Amino acid sequence: MSIPLSNRGASDRRIWNASARGVFSVKSAYALECTLQKRNEGGKSFSGAANRQWKRIWDLKDNTCPVCLSEPETVVHVCWGCSATADVWGRISVFRKWRRDFYDFQALWEEMGTKLKQEELELAATVMHSIWLRRNEMVFNGNFQSPNAVIAKAQADYSVNREVQEGVPGAAVRILGSESRQFDKDRGRMGIGVVVRDSEGALIGSLVAPKRNVTSAFQAEGHALHRAMVFCIELGLMHVCFEGDAKAVVDAVNSETEDNSWDGQLIEDIRQLKAAYLVWKLGFVRRSVNASAHVAAKLAVFFSCESVWLEDGPSEVRKSIMDELVCNELIQS
Ligand SMILES: [Zn+2]
Repeated sequence: MSIPLSNRGASDRRIWNASARGVFSVKSAYALECTLQKRNEGGKSFSGAANRQWKRIWDLKDNTCPVCLSEPETVVHVCWGCSATADVWGRISVFRKWRRDFYDFQALWEEMGTKLKQEELELAATVMHSIWLRRNEMVFNGNFQSPNAVIAKAQADYSVNREVQEGVPGAAVRILGSESRQFDKDRGRMGIGVVVRDSEGALIGSLVAPKRNVTSAFQAEGHALHRAMVFCIELGLMHVCFEGDAKAVVDAVNSETEDNSWDGQLIEDIRQLKAAYLVWKLGFVRRSVNASAHVAAKLAVFFSCESVWLEDGPSEVRKSIMDELVCNELIQS
């Protein structure tokens, strides 16, 4: 089955749906860095060195990898295929003999899902997260960590995560991942809003992304859930409870039967991502419960590219969460 991605008769392929062009862009990382800079320095603009660094990146042709400067910077390239990344994986015995030429991130993740044990898979996710942080450190600050430093950081994060999971029963961190979409049917445009919160309701991260050429509300909702799951992998989150208010999509993903519908391939992609993490849950919530994600989705339509916030979000999303927390307190008191 094909996903109706294109009206131009292009052949089917899997794409990274985080950006309009289907490739991981420096722009979204730039937007993230802008947000972090603003938060840390009270709105001060970039220093000269950072500006030069950015100029160097913008000067690169298209999306060339800023590390090896030779291949396009797709997600699978950064996490896996890049020669610098291969140095990291080569030091972990279980990955030493793996092939390097995965077509995209989904293909890599599926193979990991079938070949690895749950602990190995969790370690792989942590290593990817660590590699991604190293890339940002190089792009924004000009420091490039050694493969051993990347592995040491991943191992430390991995043991912390496992301690959390294996701690006192009932004390495990529960992450609330909300996804949502705003679908403009006439123009085929949609906005994705993802708000990730911990069990206390505090923000772990948020994401807004516009997406074009969408043909149905079901498809829009599916894309939003897929992006929410990849976002949680990027954040290195192990225990996630996804809450979506699109019942048809939630039911389709949770169903055991093969999906032969028009959007069946998209549903299958989501199932594969979910299958890799046995502890991930996907449930349906009422639209009113998902208010902050809807606020994010509405905003996304006005964005030209994906933007990400860590432990933060757009002011409208923060306000929505604040209102909700105040409301909950009133109910409880
Ligand atoms: Zn590279």
